[in-house]
Amino acid sequence: MLKNIAMLVTKYGLAYYLLFFLPANANNEFDLFSADNQNAPFIKTRMNILNSLSTNERTTQLAILYFQYNRIDLLQPLLKKIPTSPTIAGVSLKPFLQGYVHYYSGRYSQAKPYFKKAANQLAHEHLVSETDLSKDKWLAIINMYNAMNNAFLQQYTEAIKQLANIRVQAEGHGWKTLYAKADYLLGQVHYELKAYEDALNHFNRAEASYPSTDTLLIAEAMIARAQMINIVGSRRKAFELLDKAIETFEQRGDISSLAFGYLLKSYFFSKDNQPGKALLWIEKSVKLREQLGNDIDIANAYVHYSGILEENQLLAQSVIFAKKAADLVEGTDDITGQWDAFGNLAMILHAQEKYKSAFEYMHKAERALLNKARLDITTEAARLNSEFSLEIEKLKNQTLDDKNALLQSKLALEAQKQKLQNWTLMVLSIALMFIIAVVFLIYYLYSKNRQLAIQDPLTKLHNRRYIMNIGKQYFTICKRYATPMTVVMLDIDNFKQVNDQYGHKEGDNVLVFIANLCKQTLRSSDFVGRIGGEEFLFILPNTTEAKSVQFAQRLCNDIRESSVKQNQAVGCITVSLGLAHYEDFYQDFSELVNSADIALYQAKANGRNRVTQFDFNMSKALLESENKSKPVIA
Ligand code: GH3
Ligand code: MG
Ligand code: MG
Repeated sequence: MLKNIAMLVTKYGLAYYLLFFLPANANNEFDLFSADNQNAPFIKTRMNILNSLSTNERTTQLAILYFQYNRIDLLQPLLKKIPTSPTIAGVSLKPFLQGYVHYYSGRYSQAKPYFKKAANQLAHEHLVSETDLSKDKWLAIINMYNAMNNAFLQQYTEAIKQLANIRVQAEGHGWKTLYAKADYLLGQVHYELKAYEDALNHFNRAEASYPSTDTLLIAEAMIARAQMINIVGSRRKAFELLDKAIETFEQRGDISSLAFGYLLKSYFFSKDNQPGKALLWIEKSVKLREQLGNDIDIANAYVHYSGILEENQLLAQSVIFAKKAADLVEGTDDITGQWDAFGNLAMILHAQEKYKSAFEYMHKAERALLNKARLDITTEAARLNSEFSLEIEKLKNQTLDDKNALLQSKLALEAQKQKLQNWTLMVLSIALMFIIAVVFLIYYLYSKNRQLAIQDPLTKLHNRRYIMNIGKQYFTICKRYATPMTVVMLDIDNFKQVNDQYGHKEGDNVLVFIANLCKQTLRSSDFVGRIGGEEFLFILPNTTEAKSVQFAQRLCNDIRESSVKQNQAVGCITVSLGLAHYEDFYQDFSELVNSADIALYQAKANGRNRVTQFDFNMSKALLESENKSKPVIA
């Protein structure tokens, strides 16, 4: 008979497990898995809540505390008073706890609509407030308990799938407690399916994943581990873990968990052929369970109690408790409980030779057994199905991992490629910049060279060669189209003296000064160039004789007056200008320049600081007086 006890113990113990809550998150003002509640004695926390909070807040916090400690006896009378909070999380608290009370009392089909209602209300609130449903931890918690409730309704496959999903969701959001709790509950479902090794793995993982402040939840996982290890491992180790968990429950005053802990301890002793010790611990458990008042828990303890009493040869008492258990489960939906209680009583009555009553209860047990057998077949099918689902899940995960790895290496490759591209781009850019720089340098050198070829370096005016070329071009145009044109030759007066008196450098300054003045006075269509040391040649295309004279005179005056104003050291600078206007008889440009030179010569002869126009008499007079030809400039 005791061979079924482990399962019974678990079935009711399981309900006990499902009670703890998570740290607060941004959505929820209250914390269903409050670590504070887990780390202080129950009575002390309860007193604090009773003393410090407003009525509504107090009811809510007490309800949460009772939930965490599985105190259905205290939670049940509080249900009606739980306020319907205006917050998103708050709307679902009341229906959730109503569902939870049914669930914990083994009324799974009655619990279901409440969990559904809580989830629907949350979904509705999210719809109204347009917030993201998938980020709601509260909803995940409700779904988690709904999944467990489904497991007790033999919908194992669905339950495992839901819990596995919630675990993934919790991991994604960093809900550490919920993540571990989902693992723990997966362990419980596997235990129900008698997959003890798998269950142990889940419990191990759960215990390792809880934040260290979740002391009660850790103890809960530990006791579950003890239960599994008693089946598949060493009893000594199982005892060790159980005692550690019991110590936590005692410190916190968690009597619901303690009742289960004591029952488990009695079971271990009974298995270990120590009926005396088993009796001692089951009595403790029975006392607590009677105090807590949950019928199915009490019945479960009584069945176990009667077995231990029998082992201790206390047959009269054994039959009393076996009968009490049978009475408690009579008329409930709890098939497993009925099979155990009725069968247990029948066996005890049989041992006491009360055959008629024994037969009666054996018959009842059989009926429960038939129901259970039917469920067990469903269960076995579900177990196989869930194993299959889990395998598929594993494969999916593997594929996902492989895909991720592939993606990662692809990304790494991509990054490397990108890096290479960046480098190439950089090198190319540098090369391009270099080429551009070289092109600019070449262009600069070319233009510099070109400038040097056409420009006088000191005055920046056109040099002799260039101004003569311009002159030749305009002379051709002038000749062809009979347009007017004048050339003016300018020579600084007594420049030698400037050099002698003030030095060559100062002389250069005077040259630059005069060159600048020439440029300023010139129209944009006219040209000037330096053709000798201190001689300048002007080409004035399309300019009448009169205008040219005006220009030359203005320049002559400007130079003199400006030099007085600006060249203090050198003093007054004057220039002489010779002017020759184009006439048809000129054959080439050099003749025109020659005429200007003659006029200039005349200007010097006439006393400098003046403008003189060329005429033929000058030319003759010059030839006669000097009896030599003027040097040809071009
Ligand atoms: P004038 O023309 O009025 O008859 O007298 P001048 O003293 O100017 O006589 P001339 O034209 O013969 O003298 C030219 C002088 O110009 C000779 C030389 O010292 C000076 N000269 C020529 N080229 C440069 C030059 O590039 N820089 C300087 N500082 N002086 C120069
Ligand atoms: Mg000269
Ligand atoms: Mg001179």
